[in-house]
Amino acid sequence: MAGKMKAQVFYEPLKMELKERDIPTPSDEQVLIKVKACGICGSDIAYYWGESPLETPDGKGPLVLGHEYSGEVAEVGAIPEKLGLFKPGDRVVLDPVQYCNACEICKRGYVNLCENKEVLGVSADGGFAEYSISHYTGLHKLPDNVSFEQGALTEPLACATYALQNASVNPGDFAVVIGPGAIGIMMAQLVKSAGAGKVVLVGTRDYRLEVGKAVGVETVINNKDTNSPYYVADLKEKIGEMTDEKFADVVLTPTGAISAMEMAFEISGRRSRIVFFGLPGADDKIGIPALDTIFWDKTIQFSWLAPFTWPTSLQALANGLVNVDPLVTHTIDLENLAQGLSDVRERKDNVMKAVVTM
Ligand SMILES: [Zn+2]
Ligand SMILES: [Zn+2]
Repeated sequence: MAGKMKAQVFYEPLKMELKERDIPTPSDEQVLIKVKACGICGSDIAYYWGESPLETPDGKGPLVLGHEYSGEVAEVGAIPEKLGLFKPGDRVVLDPVQYCNACEICKRGYVNLCENKEVLGVSADGGFAEYSISHYTGLHKLPDNVSFEQGALTEPLACATYALQNASVNPGDFAVVIGPGAIGIMMAQLVKSAGAGKVVLVGTRDYRLEVGKAVGVETVINNKDTNSPYYVADLKEKIGEMTDEKFADVVLTPTGAISAMEMAFEISGRRSRIVFFGLPGADDKIGIPALDTIFWDKTIQFSWLAPFTWPTSLQALANGLVNVDPLVTHTIDLENLAQGLSDVRERKDNVMKAVVTM
């Protein structure tokens, strides 16, 4: 498709420019997408402020950021066309983790750990542009009743779903989610629908806990702000009280905070499952009370990305199992991306999730 498009090109920390570029041409195995909505993720902020390197060969730009996006098929490469998979106008979401499906790791089924993967918005151009290219295997059709904005949250939802799978929830489980960001609030809904009998959402900012309540979480706890109506000084004591000293069966930590990860050991019970999700610092270490953990036969699981959890995540959205609407608190134009990144970083106007819409 000949023509020009606007793209926010990231060059180096704090340097990003709205550029006019040629619309890319898909190769035989690619599909061209007209981007409709692209969420801002914490990692976009980390790249923009130089807190983590890109996954390009030299860790630098130029690169179009944005990896949480949805759009409309504009042009289909020869292979997906021959297979009849997509046609112009199809509404889709993009799995930014584009694995090769051919390396030894992929062939074992660990596609999230592929040795050759490209990640749109991280190692290849992503969604903060009017058009974007995807390998055809990275596309999923968006159900009719899911909007482009809702669809832009499929990536974090698919990550939350994978963490849930790793938690092996049993019916009736007492579950605690520490970290009421967008993913945490998705996890709180998912763990409930997966059968948990009780879900507690723990955080340090009331406005986020309120969003949790708005999507149906019955019990929220603020373990930091003494002025909060949800304030609890001693989380371990409180969870102990709530469980008759049996403590939690499942603890999920959608946060990079080591303190939350260590708290998970304090509040988890016999044969519990602890799932760490969230990016700690490169030199961070988690302290594990070794003897207590082994005596109570706990399982510690880490959860990275979202292998094979996209179709069910889209179904969960379509069936209303997860309500993502209260999470999208801000929508911005492509032109104002830098301002949007800064607003999200400063948590301006109680931002939960900001989405660039086009
Ligand atoms: Zn993300
Ligand atoms: Zn691979």
